Amino acid sequence: MARNDRFDQFSPDTVREDEILRAITSASVGPSGVQVGPGDDAAVLHPVELPLVVSVDQCIEGLHFLPGTPLRDVGVKAVRRAAGDLAAMAASPVGLVATALLPSSLTHHEALVLYEAIQCEAERLDCPLVGGDTCIQQRETASGIHLTVTVLGSSAQPVLRSGAKVGDRIFVTGPLGGSFASGRHLFPPVRISEALQLRSCLGDDLHAMIDISDGLGKDAMAVASSSGVRLVLHEGLIPCHAGSTWEDAIKDGEDHELLFTLSPSTDWSTLPFQVFEIGKVTDGQPAVMVSDAEGLQIDVSRQGWTHGS
Ligand SMILES: [Mg+2]
Repeated sequence: MARNDRFDQFSPDTVREDEILRAITSASVGPSGVQVGPGDDAAVLHPVELPLVVSVDQCIEGLHFLPGTPLRDVGVKAVRRAAGDLAAMAASPVGLVATALLPSSLTHHEALVLYEAIQCEAERLDCPLVGGDTCIQQRETASGIHLTVTVLGSSAQPVLRSGAKVGDRIFVTGPLGGSFASGRHLFPPVRISEALQLRSCLGDDLHAMIDISDGLGKDAMAVASSSGVRLVLHEGLIPCHAGSTWEDAIKDGEDHELLFTLSPSTDWSTLPFQVFEIGKVTDGQPAVMVSDAEGLQIDVSRQGWTHGS
């Protein structure tokens, strides 16, 4: 972890990056896939024999969480958001690196709480923190906390957004909607286990997959446009959290459930967890339509959470 040049100008109560590093290093349990963890110039991982899956995700104060959010929750959210992309690809976790741009107003204790949350959540997901970097913002330009988490995973056969075929059935792994209003966005589910079971139980019948981070409308559209197909969802089949409507499910985002498509002949009844069938893949210009009880279709292709809005 690099030492920030301006580190010395702050009071003893402000973040002490070297001590954070020492705490993380001493707490490291030395996971089996990690040859050298935090504490050297770079981590050294044992080579993975399968294709390496890499994704990066940001978690920014004022955009992804509100000022004043408990720092433990911020650390957990940052890790889970990033890990959701491993689930979306049906990849097994290998490890993660995290960077933090922190305001100088943060106390050393607060910074430790944040890092410990990242480290603990990473270990809980079997995706150990193997390195990272910390910078302290200058006082005059200080904004909020800015975390970046890069996850590494492996998958013999990653499941892509582009594999949906005409006739496929469309599913989600859980209820949607209202994540911000309820506070659930701080603790999104990580469906890695479910994704790996979908792959192992259903094999090549699992055609396409994505995690729902920007709302069902936009993320389903990402599958539609990547695959060159149209997704028709049925209003009454979309599972919603209590107090949320199907419109909330389309727009709210940050649910991190999986959306996936299956060959129409697939028997999914043997899956060891519940899934919800919500529609069908059809031909036509790529779009996401929601069909009501009368068969009237509404185009929701552009509806979802817009970053920065
Ligand atoms: Mg994603």
